[in-house]
Amino acid sequence: MYNKTIKELSILLKKKKISITELTILFLKKIYKNNINAFININEELTLKQAKIAEKKFFNKENTILTGIPIAHKDVFVTKGWKTTAGSKILKNYISPFDAFIIKKLNFEGMITLGKLNCDEFAMGSSNENSFFGPVKNPWDKKAVSGGSSGGSAAAVAARLTPVATATDTGGSIRQPSSFCGVTGIKPTYGSVSRFGIISFASSLDQAGIIAKNAEDCALLLNSIICKDKSDLTNIKRPKENFYKNLNCNLQNIKIGIPKEFFNQNISEDIKINIENALNEFKKLGANLINIKLYKTELYIPTYYIISSAEAYSNLSRFDGIRFGIKHKKYKNIIKMYKKYRSDNFGNEVKLRILIGSHILSDNFYNKCYLQAQKIRRIITNELKEIFNKKNKNYCDVIIGPVSPTVAWNIKEKKRNPILNYISDILTLPSSLSGLPSISIPCGFSKYKTNKNRPIGLQIIGNYFNESKILNLAYKFQQVTDWHTKIP
Ligand code: GLN
Repeated sequence: MYNKTIKELSILLKKKKISITELTILFLKKIYKNNINAFININEELTLKQAKIAEKKFFNKENTILTGIPIAHKDVFVTKGWKTTAGSKILKNYISPFDAFIIKKLNFEGMITLGKLNCDEFAMGSSNENSFFGPVKNPWDKKAVSGGSSGGSAAAVAARLTPVATATDTGGSIRQPSSFCGVTGIKPTYGSVSRFGIISFASSLDQAGIIAKNAEDCALLLNSIICKDKSDLTNIKRPKENFYKNLNCNLQNIKIGIPKEFFNQNISEDIKINIENALNEFKKLGANLINIKLYKTELYIPTYYIISSAEAYSNLSRFDGIRFGIKHKKYKNIIKMYKKYRSDNFGNEVKLRILIGSHILSDNFYNKCYLQAQKIRRIITNELKEIFNKKNKNYCDVIIGPVSPTVAWNIKEKKRNPILNYISDILTLPSSLSGLPSISIPCGFSKYKTNKNRPIGLQIIGNYFNESKILNLAYKFQQVTDWHTKIP
């Protein structure tokens, strides 16, 4: 049951081979037994209540393909009645009075929330070691990190504790853990999925998406979560599209751009070989491979960390000890209260980003740093846009490369040096900074002794609103390969 796709589970439910409650209990049992620390909040009562509601939907013939399918949510989506912590001590007992937009949508479909998933504190991290609740272990090798910040989501899907999970991606947090855990994760075009009810990290970059076993399941969920929501002013109205139905298009003559620079970034040899093998599969499917150049790669990391830290500094100012979470009763004046509350309850990485953000936005550095980074962000975006511009002779439909320069590293290996984490984001940042949609799919395993059998991910970046195209490529690849079916 645990390996079945959403479509397969839905058929079983329809044929009454298993009831929604039985299916839910099966997954809950598996969650109780696991030891990877992916789930940080389980509430059986709320879960089973949802199962009953979904059963009623079936009875009233109001069911969709998602009705009765279990799901788990990254703990940055506020969920009514459930604790929502964003992986932080500051929110450790916070219960939201409302649901995030995407939770509302998925509840409406009749999906069953199995629980809330561990993540880096306020989604800041690349290894899920910045969570107040401890690191998530990689199901392929418990010594390894799961990736971050949506490590809980990726590890839970990989360990088959849930068929599918929600996640968010600011600088790679859906794609990188998906790659580290051997699952499929999609970040849609910025603005396509409402950010309403997502605990903000960096508002101009944050985007919700899906982590699942394969592209088909991702497409099914995108059908539901990509839609207009007035509560998020950056949310775009898009024509209704059926991502699931569009999966099976022909890849004949599709143009795949391969940036040489994506293979220069201290990429491990294993990863290069696996990506090259995958590119050959695409060639066999009829695609044209085109070498392209991206001149601005060395600017991705500084630009992202300047902009995201500035926005985080501003977003996190709402945690003032008055409005959310833990409250301090003893204090002499308001400044002392802020200080105590924030220094006691934010983790080190979050404090570091707040310091960087406040420094960058200070009088002396605003022009030199922040404005400069905004201009460079535009230059990076324009460079990528040109690649997809059909007026150019050498335009491409998609860009393909690795997700990360390395496979999952060991827990604690890079914890003491945040810069080592930051530089590992280099290949996911271009689509984050430009807002382009991007998907990570499994394409092999490492062979090196120290990190043998850890999954490798391939990234497909598409033009704006071209989720159908990248899902289509991922789907076709998954029809002719079986990396996505491997289980730890
Ligand atoms: N690793 C990046 C960071 O720490 C990206 C995180 C994310 O996408 N949420 O900022």
